[in-house]
Amino acid sequence: MSGKAQLILDAIAPEFSRRVLHDEPMTKHTSWHAGGPADVFFTPRDVMDLTAFIRQLPERVPLLWIGLGSNLLVRDGGVRGAVIATHGALGALERESATRIRVQAGVACARLARQCVKWGLGPAEFFAGIPGTLGGALAMNAGAWDGETWRHVIDVEVVDRHGIRRTRTPADYDISYRRVRGPADEWFLSANLFFERKPGANEAAIRELLERRKQTQPIGQWSCGSVFTNPPNNHAGRLIESAGLKGFRIGDASVSDKHANFIINHGAARAADLEALIEHVQRTVARVHQIELTTEVRIVGEPA
Ligand SMILES: Cc1cc2nc3c(=O)[nH]c(=O)nc-3n(C[C@H](O)[C@H](O)[C@H](O)COP(=O)(O)OP(=O)(O)OC[C@H]3O[C@@H](n4cnc5c(N)ncnc54)[C@H](O)[C@@H]3O)c2cc1C
Repeated sequence: MSGKAQLILDAIAPEFSRRVLHDEPMTKHTSWHAGGPADVFFTPRDVMDLTAFIRQLPERVPLLWIGLGSNLLVRDGGVRGAVIATHGALGALERESATRIRVQAGVACARLARQCVKWGLGPAEFFAGIPGTLGGALAMNAGAWDGETWRHVIDVEVVDRHGIRRTRTPADYDISYRRVRGPADEWFLSANLFFERKPGANEAAIRELLERRKQTQPIGQWSCGSVFTNPPNNHAGRLIESAGLKGFRIGDASVSDKHANFIINHGAARAADLEALIEHVQRTVARVHQIELTTEVRIVGEPA
């Protein structure tokens, strides 16, 4: 066991130190399949278990929350501190009233989309193309096809570093395209969402949207979706393509031939290759177009 993991395990209550994973490869928990180990990796049983874990964790131990790791680049040196995984843990999805549902953070967006269709609620089809959790979608204000997560939020339940839970409304956040700023050191446990009644909703619309996506994006290859946000009135993909970068490769990472805003791990790319390619794309686009691309993907952890 690494010394860093041992230090954390020594500091946490035995009921948890027996259950957490240590030196857990983050390659297993990210859609890019790259990145070093997390010192400690915890999947809670439920919200009570999660808040109990946070309360007994020494405050000096940093926390990283993850959903399905579909927007994360974990560097090769891994994550110091504790990773909290919500998928497979916070999975409740309930209808509260005719147009209002309660969704826990670990629910996959695709499940949310399908369930809304079954309930005759919409528009929620856009969630079907987002391969993450509701928690990640709240953190990112994820969106697609004119839909955006926070347009549907009534309120959210959050927990802070002391395990204290509270309810917040959208007014507590600064929300824009793929960006959500709120109180520091708080994480999403669940949300109340509203949709309109859409009695004719059926899964054909979801299938059609996914089919359209397959035509234009390298679905099925290891990626994190769009690497960069679109600059105002522009498209990152078009800027990258017209800078001649489609297919550009560093190690086993390359700019997708199908959609230039996707970077593919062909199997053996290290996080350092992916990050070097991200920086190369930024430098080239800045030189060719005088536009600074900002990463949508969250880059975390330590270099090797
Ligand atoms: C093939 C592909 C297609 C994609 N298409 C789209 C798209 O159309 N639109 C789009 O918006 N995105 C898209 N993405 C990106 C990604 O799916 C979204 O950003 C998604 O919302 C991330 O969710 P996640 O659960 O995987 O989050 P993670 O990648 O696990 O985490 C992302 C960020 O959210 C934080 N976070 C996670 N859970 C919580 C929580 N409970 N509380 C607080 N913070 C949390 C993490 O700390 C991290 O900073 C795509 C990705 C892939 C691989």
